[in-house]
Amino acid sequence: MGGFFGVVAEEDAVSDLFFGTDYHSHLGTMRGGLAVLDGKGFQRAIHDISNAQFRSKFENDFRRFHGSSGIGVISDNEDQPLVISSHLGVYAIATVGVVKNAAELVKEVFDKRRVQFSEMSRGGINATELVAMLINSQESFEEGVRFAQEKIEGSCSMLLLTCEGVLYAVRDRYGRTPVVAGQKEGAVAVAMETCCFPNLGYQVCRELGPGEMVRCAPDGVETVLPPGNEMAICSFLWVYFGYPASSYEGRNVEMARYRCGGALARRNPVEADSVGGVPDSGVAHALGYAVESGIRYSRPFVKYTPTWPRSFMPPNQKERELIAQMKLIPVPGLIQGKRLIFCDDSIVRGTQLRDQVKRLYDDGAKEIHMRIACPPLLYGCRFLNFSRSKSEMDLATRRTIREIEGDTDDVAAYRDADGTPFKEMVGRIRQRLGLSSLAYQRLDDLVEAIGLPREKLCTYCWTGEDVSTPGGCSHGCARCGKPCAAGSAQAS
Ligand code: SF4
Repeated sequence: MGGFFGVVAEEDAVSDLFFGTDYHSHLGTMRGGLAVLDGKGFQRAIHDISNAQFRSKFENDFRRFHGSSGIGVISDNEDQPLVISSHLGVYAIATVGVVKNAAELVKEVFDKRRVQFSEMSRGGINATELVAMLINSQESFEEGVRFAQEKIEGSCSMLLLTCEGVLYAVRDRYGRTPVVAGQKEGAVAVAMETCCFPNLGYQVCRELGPGEMVRCAPDGVETVLPPGNEMAICSFLWVYFGYPASSYEGRNVEMARYRCGGALARRNPVEADSVGGVPDSGVAHALGYAVESGIRYSRPFVKYTPTWPRSFMPPNQKERELIAQMKLIPVPGLIQGKRLIFCDDSIVRGTQLRDQVKRLYDDGAKEIHMRIACPPLLYGCRFLNFSRSKSEMDLATRRTIREIEGDTDDVAAYRDADGTPFKEMVGRIRQRLGLSSLAYQRLDDLVEAIGLPREKLCTYCWTGEDVSTPGGCSHGCARCGKPCAAGSAQAS
C-alpha cells in the first residue's frame, strides 16, 4: 500500500521527517525515500528496505540532511520521492496508491511526442513520475492535481514540496487512503497514520476530505481544492493495514478490532480453552473475542519480534512461507490437548494458515476454531497495492468456487452469508485448512465495528461494488440504486 509524511517548519525539521516517515513502515515493504529542502535545493535519499528497517537504512542521511521542510515515503513499488523540474518550477513529489490505467496514460503521453520517462521501476514506468507528468501538463499545481485525479483509475494520494518550501498534500479522489494534518508551535506535518503525531508533539488539526488538496505553511493549513462529496475509505485499514494507535475519520483501529472480535464471539460462539490471535493484527481481534466470550486470552504462537518487527515480503511464495513459519514460535504448554480459538484478520490464499494449523495439530492441539475478522475476500483490490494477492484467482475463495463451478467470474451468489453457496464455500475452505470450525465476520458487523456509515466505506474486496464504477457496480446494489442481483448479500 505505502505511506507518507511531510513537514514544513520554521526550524530544522529533519528529525520529525525521519521519525514521522518511519512510523509508516508497516504500510510498505520495498522502498523508503526522503527529500529535504535546504538553502541550496533538494537533498534526496532512496533505499531498499525490503530486508532492513527504514531507520537503519536512513541513519546516515538523517545526520547529514538539514532543512526546515521535507517529504518522506514508504513505498511498495517505485523509487520515490522524485525531484522534478518543470514549467511549474522544481518540486519533490511522493505518491501512495495505484494507477490501474498506467499503460493507457503512458500511451496518451507518448502519442503527444517530445516526452520521455527517465525513472524506471522494476522494468515499468515509475508511477510517481507518470503522476508528475500529468500534473505538469497543466498551468498550475491545483489544475494539474485536479487533472491527474480525473485521469487516474485506482487511487492516488500525494505530497508535493516546491523549492519555495510550500507543501501541498492531496487525498485521493474517493478518500480510500487517509491524509491527516497535524500542528505544533512553528510546524505543520501531514501524514497517513495519526499514530506518528503524539511522540513528535503534533496535535491532529484536520483530516482532509476525499480529493481535497491543501497548502501547508508552518502556521497553518489552507484548502486549495475542496473535498468531493463521495467517500470510499478502505475498510481494510481497520481490519489489517492500519496501525493500532491510529484513527481514520475519528475511528481508532485498535478499538475497531476489539469490536470486530466481540461481534465474532457473539455470532460464532464455541466452547474452547483459550483464544489467541495470529500476530500481529489478529491479536486485537482476539482480545475483543476473549473479552466478549469470557474465554481466557493466550498466545500459543509468539512472534519473534526482535528481528521480525515489520512486514517482510520476499518476492517468491516459497520464501514467504518460510518467513511466515520462522516468525512464529509455538508454546507447547498452551497447545497440547487444548481446544483453541484463533482470530486472524483475513484469509487471502490460505497457504500460510494451513501450515500454521498443521503445526498446531503436530504440537498436540485437540481442536482449532478459526474466526476471521472480515468476510471472505472475493475480489482483488483495484484501488491500492494490496500486495498480498497478486491475482484474484489465487484467493482461497476463488479457488474453492472454481472447484464447485468450474471457471467463472460470476461469484455474486457467494456473497450472501445466509445462502447455501456461501456455506458450501466456507465448508470447503474449512476442510482444506483442517479446521474444527471456521467463521467469517458478516459485512454488517464489520461496518458496525468500524463505526462509519456503510456508504462512506470501500468494501469492494467483499462485495465487488464500488462508488467509482460508472453507473454503479455490475451487480446492482443499494449503493448504486439498481435492483440487487445478490439479494441479501448486500449490506446497505
Ligand atoms: S478493495 Fe478492499 S483493500 Fe482495496 S480499498 Fe477497497 S476495502 Fe481496501
